[in-house]
Amino acid sequence: MSSRSKDETSWRSATRLVRGGQQRSEFFETSEALFMTSGYVYDSAEAAEQAFTGENPRYVYSRYANPTNTIFETRLAAIEGAEYCMGVASGMAAVFAALIAPLKAGDRVVAARALFGSCAYIIADLLPRYGIETEFVDGPDLDQWARALGKPAAAVFLETPSNPTLELIDLKAVCDLAHDVGARVVVDNAFASPVLQRPMDFGADVVTYSATKHIDGQGRSLGGAILTNDKAYFEDQLRPFARNTGPSLSPFNAWILLKGLETLDLRVSRQCENALELARHLETFAAVERTVYPGLESHPQHALAKRQMKKGGTMIAFELKDGKAGAFRTLNALKTIDISNNLGDAKSLITHPATTTHQRLSAEERARVGISDGLVRLSVGIEDINDLKDDLSQALA
Ligand SMILES: *Cc1c(COP(=O)(O)O)cnc(C)c1O
Repeated sequence: MSSRSKDETSWRSATRLVRGGQQRSEFFETSEALFMTSGYVYDSAEAAEQAFTGENPRYVYSRYANPTNTIFETRLAAIEGAEYCMGVASGMAAVFAALIAPLKAGDRVVAARALFGSCAYIIADLLPRYGIETEFVDGPDLDQWARALGKPAAAVFLETPSNPTLELIDLKAVCDLAHDVGARVVVDNAFASPVLQRPMDFGADVVTYSATKHIDGQGRSLGGAILTNDKAYFEDQLRPFARNTGPSLSPFNAWILLKGLETLDLRVSRQCENALELARHLETFAAVERTVYPGLESHPQHALAKRQMKKGGTMIAFELKDGKAGAFRTLNALKTIDISNNLGDAKSLITHPATTTHQRLSAEERARVGISDGLVRLSVGIEDINDLKDDLSQALA
């Protein structure tokens, strides 16, 4: 591998998305090479020995590291403003590894209540089985955070904006409270994407991504990533955990995600523009009880959204007046927008959380996080805004 030495640190974000971390092989390819290999060979037995003692660090096995994965990790780290990045097989592999690697029996974890379903499973069902105490708070309520963080905790876990109700959590305030009692703050930033929100700028210690969402953003591949500036956490806890348990990212998927990063800013910017216009459009229909979009002035945390996020995001939630029947009628009447529980895609996708992504919750739990039977979640794509407006207009008529 050869790499031209360029001062990457002076590049602005949009340039880093396209060029960050690039390493060219001896064939001088334009597009990053795909090293579809599980193993590596050595010139001599001595060279193998030196690789394993760490005397000559190099690629030894793709469960540990792979050149294509390295380019993806270096590029994403540059965008996030993080020192360390690890690509993993999925967003859930990222959340689980980031949380479990340093935890032990007797530790305490405080988490926001409104979480992606599988994240809620880890906190509510899995960790307690291993002697880790977990407590949930209502994310936007800082008094609840202050109470829960009135005693020591090992970790805090949250998503902002939340899925699917798009409630925001004040990152700076929660990080300050957490750090006062020595808790490491892990933020799942899948909903905002790295181009809209950088949780570390507000004090977060660890950021995780489902790269399946905006980073691929074209419905092709699963992937995840964990980012941090904490060397001891990354080298002594996360790395040994991942090396020995194997949540590794396939080089093929790393290559797809790398290509996804190149257009991330373009796609997310267009998605946000479309989302703002669609949110305003939705507010005009009698069949729509309320529209939730952080970029609208009517969002109760609009000021916080402006502080924490560059734009209002790619997701809209809206509530139909006629409950589940109204929601199903609307979904079934759409002709362009697809019914899908995925999100962050170039294609606009709509879902009914109460019967799909959040079906596992009891009716009370759903009510507690604001998921009514009439609520639908719309992930806005990059299509022509007029086609999206037309589709929603005919479905809501
Ligand atoms: C999708 C998602 C995940 C899980 O990611 P996968 O890549 O599907 O494993 C975790 N958190 C949030 C907020 C998500 O939207």
